Amino acid sequence: MPELFIGGQWTAAADGQVREIRCPADGIPVATVDEGGPKDAAAAIAAARTAFDDGPWPGTPAAERGRLVLRVADLLVRDKAELARAESLDTGKRLVESAYDMDDIANCFRYFGNLGAAGGTDRVVDTGQPETDSTVRHEPVGVCALITPWNYPLLQTAWKVAPAVVTGNTFILKPSELTPHTAIHLMRLLAEAGLPDGAANLVLGAGPAVGAPLTQDPRVDLVSFTGGLVTGRRIMAAAAPTVKKIALELGGKNPNIVFADAEFDTAVDYALMAVFLHSGQVCSAGARLLVQDELHDTFVDELVARARRIRLGGPFDEHARTGPLISAAHREKVAAYVAAGLDEGAVLRCGGAPPDDPALRDGFYYLPTVLDECTPDMSVVRDESFGPVLTVERFRTEDEAVRLANDTVYGLAGAVWTQDAGRARRVAARMRAGTVWINDFHPYVPQAEWGGMKQSGVGRELGPTGLAEYQEAKHVWRNTAPRPQRWFE
Ligand code: NDP
Repeated sequence: MPELFIGGQWTAAADGQVREIRCPADGIPVATVDEGGPKDAAAAIAAARTAFDDGPWPGTPAAERGRLVLRVADLLVRDKAELARAESLDTGKRLVESAYDMDDIANCFRYFGNLGAAGGTDRVVDTGQPETDSTVRHEPVGVCALITPWNYPLLQTAWKVAPAVVTGNTFILKPSELTPHTAIHLMRLLAEAGLPDGAANLVLGAGPAVGAPLTQDPRVDLVSFTGGLVTGRRIMAAAAPTVKKIALELGGKNPNIVFADAEFDTAVDYALMAVFLHSGQVCSAGARLLVQDELHDTFVDELVARARRIRLGGPFDEHARTGPLISAAHREKVAAYVAAGLDEGAVLRCGGAPPDDPALRDGFYYLPTVLDECTPDMSVVRDESFGPVLTVERFRTEDEAVRLANDTVYGLAGAVWTQDAGRARRVAARMRAGTVWINDFHPYVPQAEWGGMKQSGVGRELGPTGLAEYQEAKHVWRNTAPRPQRWFE
């Protein structure tokens, strides 16, 4: 069956192009999929526009839309094993982690479905004037272009699709060219749940060929993008001439601050998880460890000893604790950041190379890497490597910790470890990041907003704000007893 989904039909790419998808863990081909281009993007925009302007979905009662989204949540649970396997083959991620992702994805659909099922968010306004009715209605924005990355393919998609659908929009989804399979499966589930033709469209293909036209076309009302900072800037510029609404979830260079009074064993354990989960290919990865001077040596020694023991392996290796990078090109980029860090004076404590295990030779693995004695001016500290690379900096005082933590163009997430509750609250309040964890790292829930300050993004996903991104507020005022005003007499 062809893999583009346009106007309710499964279709091949207009130019007949295809792309081979290979598993990053071993390079073995997973499948060949249709590779769309500008013509397919245009066809999908036309289908989504017609479905929005003339179709039933935007006018469907909110409660009914909510029930459909809840049905999708049930279908995701039904197909969890198949979806997790597909996600792991595309990304190389451990199967157990993909299975967690599928639970989160179903929960995301459930959260937004319940918001819809509760019956809309229109608000009656008291104008203070008799003989008026005044209501603020929340209407769908229109045709949405949803552009997603490869690291958490279906999760990032769910954060956009669930609120877009429940608020009555129509959309075109453009997943990363490297990881298309769970997006294809989601289209089947949306159709099975009863979403009308043209409300959901999928175009596979490369960013410049498919993503760029979506961001420029005047028929698209909103672009919601998750990906890198450089692409985010391009999308912001591309959307400007037609003044589209935009929501951008970009990268991070997230500080993990450890004070000397932190609970040692737990803080070491979480510092590893913060950065090496999914080989560091996590937007909120705790890639910058800031550790208080008097704790530095014992903390880093223990961290390095444990990092050396992390077992790498493919999605179905039950003993593996982390997997490969997404591609050879990405591994080269990570290696170049490490080399630059060493040139600039960082001290390599472990890793810094691909593993020499012959069993991992065909995958894009890179050893968990710790660079010590780093300083804020190093490119490996400033830029997002998006790999298993931890930089370590020292601080002496609370003020210095906050200053270092905020010394970045990013502002996505960060954490503070201390047993002093007052200090934890003070530092959390001063950190310029969309999410701050105290004595924890990485958890999130769909009820709470996610997104970045500064150059980590524009807008928020999840939570009530994540729903509102897909709505326009319209004030409808009714004069219940109109009579001439005689203003000009
Ligand atoms: P990219 O920015 O390279 O790509 C993201 C998506 O944008 C892909 O679908 C890509 O297509 C597409 N794209 C590329 N160029 C254009 C263009 N000119 N116009 C429109 N679309 C385009 O990011 P990665 O896929 O490499 O993902 C990693 C990045 O995502 C990291 O920086 C990470 O921090 C960030 N991220 C942020 C999250 C957050 O919540 N803030 C969450 C997860 C990731 P294709 O790849 O097919 O060419």
